[in-house]
Amino acid sequence: MALLPILEFPDERLRIKAKPVIEVTDETRQLIDDMLETMYAAPGIGLAATQVNIPQRVLVLDLSEEKNEPLALINPELLHREGEEETEEGCLSVPGVFEKVKRAEKIKIKALNREGAIQEFEAEGLLAVCIQHEMDHLEGKLFVDLLSPLKRQLARKKARKEQRQRESGVSSSKSGSGP
Ligand code: ZN
Repeated sequence: MALLPILEFPDERLRIKAKPVIEVTDETRQLIDDMLETMYAAPGIGLAATQVNIPQRVLVLDLSEEKNEPLALINPELLHREGEEETEEGCLSVPGVFEKVKRAEKIKIKALNREGAIQEFEAEGLLAVCIQHEMDHLEGKLFVDLLSPLKRQLARKKARKEQRQRESGVSSSKSGSGP
């Protein structure tokens, strides 16, 4: 297992569209394990491979309190979306920024699991929000793209400030949380 460095906004590599995984192999499972370790250490509740500079359609999540319910989705597809919900989101790639974003309230997902088997399931609430957020990463999109131009500009400033503070060894208490 290894901790992977997380790319941060406005790094252009976060804009790369991820490629489908052709075959789920031990290498894929190693990537999933490394991503989970990186996500737990951050700490965060979701991470897309794009965020660790691996442009493959792989994402991991764990919304449990004890951090013992890891979920890995490979080549995820949105089969259905329903309703609308506004939730405050953060992102490990946009440190220090938390903004309300509108997304579908309920979704139906198809993806491969770590064994390469097809799974289909419905999600709602935070899980649905988190999956949509991570799937956007695979398209090279960030949650700040969904904000108004003014809010996006403020977010860019905030992220930069946060990065500078961290480089000088100070960090705001809220940094690091969020998917
Ligand atoms: Zn994110």
